[in-house]
Amino acid sequence: MGSSKRIINTELETEEILLENNLRPKMLCDYIGQAKAKENLKVFIDAAKGRGETLDHVLLYGPPGLGKTTLAGIIANEMGVGIKITSGPAIEKPGEIAAILNNLAEGDVLFIDEIHRLNRQVEEVLYPAMEDFAIDIMIGKGASARSIRLDLPHFTLIGATTRAGMLTAPLRDRFGMVHKLEFYTPEELTSIITRSAGVLSVDINKEGAMELARRSRGTPRLANRLLKRVRDFAQVKYHGGITLEVANSALDLLEVDKLGLDNQDRTILNTIIEKFSGGPVGLDTLAAALGEDSGTLEEVYEPYLIKNGLITRTPRGRMVTEHAYVHLGLSVLAK
Ligand code: ADP
Repeated sequence: MGSSKRIINTELETEEILLENNLRPKMLCDYIGQAKAKENLKVFIDAAKGRGETLDHVLLYGPPGLGKTTLAGIIANEMGVGIKITSGPAIEKPGEIAAILNNLAEGDVLFIDEIHRLNRQVEEVLYPAMEDFAIDIMIGKGASARSIRLDLPHFTLIGATTRAGMLTAPLRDRFGMVHKLEFYTPEELTSIITRSAGVLSVDINKEGAMELARRSRGTPRLANRLLKRVRDFAQVKYHGGITLEVANSALDLLEVDKLGLDNQDRTILNTIIEKFSGGPVGLDTLAAALGEDSGTLEEVYEPYLIKNGLITRTPRGRMVTEHAYVHLGLSVLAK
């Protein structure tokens, strides 16, 4: 479905990395929303600091762009320690993870994005590392081979995943804290957009910010992306700041609708309606009909459609709801 060009694509685009780094809040008090995760983390951070210990390992899960990487950076800042960032698919061999762990400074945070994609041998190195801050290394070959234990600096592992269900039980069990990040409310996104506009010196009024927020799919990454696109539009076409009128016409032009759905979301809904009579249709069948990978469909596209009551998951597959028919301007009777 050409997801790389998608305006509401939640994956990072290279040009965005710099922008994201500028916009990332640095401390917990600037991190908007996620009240539950924030409150718990604050208690654990204060307690660990009070005892002069490292923070327990943390697992963050939820759809892309909701602030997992940002939160990992904030945890390191709040603890006053360094952070090393890597990802599941980037670590191919046990020796590589051993080297990463061995090079950490005492107290550091190790952030592993897409931690569900670590391979088995690499994961096994992590077990004793997380539990006892040690790794076992094999020395020699054949009959004279023996394993020696190497002590590591104490560290905090922060794992991020879009698919908590794909984590193996032994790995999941080694995290002291597990936090699910939720979609943001339009009010929270309005605050994020207003803050980002301040950082980027973009002129936007309250109504303009609220409209962007409503159409950002509950996701800060998209809110920041829409802000950037609409800013260009305001500058070139309107020679001014972002107002409700500018936001509305720019977002219409970008084909992001009132619920924040774009063409591809609508294609998903229309496919279920037209090819599968509204469902139920199995995930793999639907993915094949869309020419999309079923994992991406399930973790990137679907959660927001489900959250907004446009699709439901039933034991027999996905179904569109009446709300979806109404939103698409179709008659429910057409069912
Ligand atoms: P993830 O790791 O979950 O994919 P990121 O942490 O990279 O998401 O967040 C994407 C962008 O959204 C960041 O650059 C940051 O500017 C913004 N962001 C995320 N969460 C928040 C938040 N709670 N408050 C303010 N900005 C946020």
